[in-house]
Amino acid sequence: MTLHDSVTRTSSAVVGSTDDIVRRAGAVPPLDGFPTLDELAARFARIERDAPGLISSRRVATSRLGEPITMYTIGAGARHHLVVGGVHPNEPIGSWTAVHLAETLCADDELRDRLDATWHVVPSIDPDGGRLNEAWFADPGDRGRYARGFYRPAPDEQVEWTFPTSHKAAYFDRVMPETLGLMRLIDELRPDLYVSLHNGEMGGVYYYLSRPVPELTEALHAVPASLGLPLDTGEPESPFLERYAPAVFGTGTIAEAYDYLESLGVDPAAEIAGSSSSEYASRWGTLGLVAELPYWKHPDADDTSATDESYGDLLRRTGAQMTATGEALADLLARAEPLLTLATPFLRASRAFVPMLVRAGAVDRVRADEPSSARAATVAERFSCEDLVHCFRLRYGGMLLRALEAEAVAGTATAPLRRLAAEAEALWSGWRDAAAAADGAEVIPIASLVGVQYGAVLAAAVHLADAPGERP
Ligand SMILES: [Zn+2]
Repeated sequence: MTLHDSVTRTSSAVVGSTDDIVRRAGAVPPLDGFPTLDELAARFARIERDAPGLISSRRVATSRLGEPITMYTIGAGARHHLVVGGVHPNEPIGSWTAVHLAETLCADDELRDRLDATWHVVPSIDPDGGRLNEAWFADPGDRGRYARGFYRPAPDEQVEWTFPTSHKAAYFDRVMPETLGLMRLIDELRPDLYVSLHNGEMGGVYYYLSRPVPELTEALHAVPASLGLPLDTGEPESPFLERYAPAVFGTGTIAEAYDYLESLGVDPAAEIAGSSSSEYASRWGTLGLVAELPYWKHPDADDTSATDESYGDLLRRTGAQMTATGEALADLLARAEPLLTLATPFLRASRAFVPMLVRAGAVDRVRADEPSSARAATVAERFSCEDLVHCFRLRYGGMLLRALEAEAVAGTATAPLRRLAAEAEALWSGWRDAAAAADGAEVIPIASLVGVQYGAVLAAAVHLADAPGERP
């Protein structure tokens, strides 16, 4: 974990030009692993101590387990930009992006003046969830170790997806204290730019914008290219999302997701709960930006050449694997349930995600039968679909294992539960080996990932500085 404090200037490109953003993105110093929650808090405390008068902090919420959540405010420009990490606590690239953004804004008067914004940075909105991922933060390149220490909250415990929803039969208002804190911030600041710091896992770089901003495409493509990272031109995360440019998607709304599932003849009620933070922020005309980055890159992620398999056959094949994965985990979970005594976050997540895997496979089979799926699948699509099966097996199998292990650690595991845990471990290890065999992936230096996210934030801020009154 080494991030230098100094910002070196090596070029005279006009501040805010694409060349300048590319240069700044490439100047992120080498980074080793991800900071723990305590290290992140200490880092921000140091930034604040070292830049008196430029940066201030205040408590904006309290986590469910009682941890104070802090926001840091930097500069005094005309616009208000809100940058929030930990919206998915299993996605920590943004921890370094938040640190690097805060440090460079404090150190570089020219940059601060050019962007003319007051920056509000919440390094982690879900410290409780973040702590449950710390086991893999020191060595994030090892996919097996990553998945074995992985924790993603159940959907109704994710800050990102627990904003209020009211659409047709979908209604959600079980807002968590962390989400309520973020809602209050969004309503107080009415930000011009809202960045929720997410990341993906495998493949290439892609982005979400809450509205089309064609002027941003150049920088969003140039920065990853300059760092040797492919764009992800395979499957979008949700098939209904609008594609603004290659690897740039509209954020979409929960109503669109609902209506899409309904159009497929799938009951949306099981899949639709809360809305996203970006959708909530859009009430103020805010531009929402998400930069999704993988830990591992793969040459297939950006290969749009055709395979000899139809898209429909691809969806049928990987959809069947997804269903089989869900059914295997559902069987383990059903046999474990009577033996479990601890209501851990891992168990809550398993109860939510395991049935979702079964349903995801069913949706893929419906999509496979659509006439538009008769075309040839691209290499990138094949890679996305196949890797998603590996990803979900490792993640959700890993979390179920942690639910079982928690009982062993607490001394409450009966002999049958221990045997069941050993069976689950054997299944998961086979999946880990299958994923490794399929691989061909390469670990990306963390500084490059942070550079892409940081560059995207700068590009959006430059655009807003140059387009006063653009708010729709
Ligand atoms: Zn995410």
